Amino acid sequence: MSAAEAIRAELVGLVGLAHVAPADDMRLLQDATEARRLPARADAWVRPGTPQEVAAVMAWCYENEVPLTPRGGGTGLAGGAVPLEGGVLLSLDRLTSVFALEPQWWRMHVGAGLSTAHVRRLASENGLLFPPDPGAMEQSQIGGNVATNAGGPHAFKYGVTGRWVSGLEVVLPPGRVVTLGGPLRKDVAGLDLTSLMVGSEGTLGIVTAVWLRLTPAPAARLPVAAAYRDVAAGVAAIESVLASGVVPAAIEFLDAGALAAARDVLPLALPREVGFLVLAECDGDASAVEFERGEVTEALAAGAVALHSPSDRESIAELWRWRAGISAAVAAQRGGKLSEDIAVPLERLREAIEGVVEIGERLGIPSCSFGHAGDGNLHAAFAFDPGSEVELRVAREGAHAVFALALELGGSVSGEHGVGSLKRDFVSRQLDPSLLELQRNIKRTIDPKGLLNPGKKL
Ligand SMILES: Cc1cc2nc3c(=O)[nH]c(=O)nc-3n(C[C@H](O)[C@H](O)[C@H](O)COP(=O)(O)OP(=O)(O)OC[C@H]3O[C@@H](n4cnc5c(N)ncnc54)[C@H](O)[C@@H]3O)c2cc1C
Repeated sequence: MSAAEAIRAELVGLVGLAHVAPADDMRLLQDATEARRLPARADAWVRPGTPQEVAAVMAWCYENEVPLTPRGGGTGLAGGAVPLEGGVLLSLDRLTSVFALEPQWWRMHVGAGLSTAHVRRLASENGLLFPPDPGAMEQSQIGGNVATNAGGPHAFKYGVTGRWVSGLEVVLPPGRVVTLGGPLRKDVAGLDLTSLMVGSEGTLGIVTAVWLRLTPAPAARLPVAAAYRDVAAGVAAIESVLASGVVPAAIEFLDAGALAAARDVLPLALPREVGFLVLAECDGDASAVEFERGEVTEALAAGAVALHSPSDRESIAELWRWRAGISAAVAAQRGGKLSEDIAVPLERLREAIEGVVEIGERLGIPSCSFGHAGDGNLHAAFAFDPGSEVELRVAREGAHAVFALALELGGSVSGEHGVGSLKRDFVSRQLDPSLLELQRNIKRTIDPKGLLNPGKKL
């Protein structure tokens, strides 16, 4: 019997024959960073059905010094769920219970494996909103969103996932189920371990259930799309929106390259000279939203060559569907793309957007950016042919230059996708060495054998 077969035989005793398999399917071993061809390998794929089974698997891994990598929906863009050191790949997809759905208290308690879209639908069916709206929400899981502290377009007004988490059930090394927080809306007893877990990318514990806060769903949402000749005019308009006193729910942008990739399916006709697009949205009480969109439109109008303000439900949905498809449209240009998610202070946004274009020109590879302008969060993308090693190498070089650019502008190498295995070296350039060591000490205290998602985050 091979070592991998021996591991699987042990795991069968913990979770049952039907829930242990060889980890030989590349779709399972990769996440949305597939184009980078990370050297993934695992000895076993296991799908526990309860937190206690998750704990039993972790305890076995701890006793036998076997690495353990948690996997949610596999939509991550940092290689976080890709097992690099063999061992056990643990999927949370069977933990989909809805333990409590309490609209009157604006909260729900769900298993970590429930998809983000399912969580949002449950809230919406009850007149409520779970605001985080990361792009791949049909596949991503709420546990994965917690582990990456995911954002999305509407994070500008509503904040990222962590703001909506009041409690977690987590399995900690060496295999112990603990509850952090809960349904309480306020709780400052002890250190905030719930927040420590949020965004820890599966390196400190495995999330098995989540208490989520909800908020009443806005009665209306009204977007406005404004087109500009260039980055300078578009960024100036975004600054005017920030000065308007209105808080839009979202302020998104596309530069010329992203617009060119997605132009053919854009649900509005634009003059040829357009090189930058802003998509903002106001939401809330119906009459207030009309007024607020008026204010935002006025702010965006200065320097705009076209404005589009749909009011009917279908046109609004069409505009957001188009926005959701931009990532795929950018990738479709050459078949693959490397997409990074740097964040910069708002006053450096223009430099960041122009800097990404300059990097692409210098390396001779198509580059562009789009994303969450209001949060200074850019998806900087380099398109390449997945069949070409040379193009992949150049795209990687571009991504590294983008990280350096972010740091030069006083920003972060990751605004929302996380560090995973891809940005580790750059985190050590971003963080003060003493603070990095403090974080490593926290990791050692919680996971002394370093078996939980090794090679990631720190
Ligand atoms: C088209 C597209 C659009 C996207 N748009 C956005 C966006 O707008 N905003 C954004 O923030 N992200 C976005 N993402 C990235 C991705 O969807 C998010 O990072 C998401 O939160 C990952 O969730 P997942 O369940 O797929 O996690 P996975 O990819 O499976 O895992 C991500 C990380 O979390 C860990 N993990 C997963 N589940 C658990 C758990 N239960 N306990 C502990 N650790 C766990 C993994 O080990 C890994 O480190 C996008 C991705 C794609 C492909």
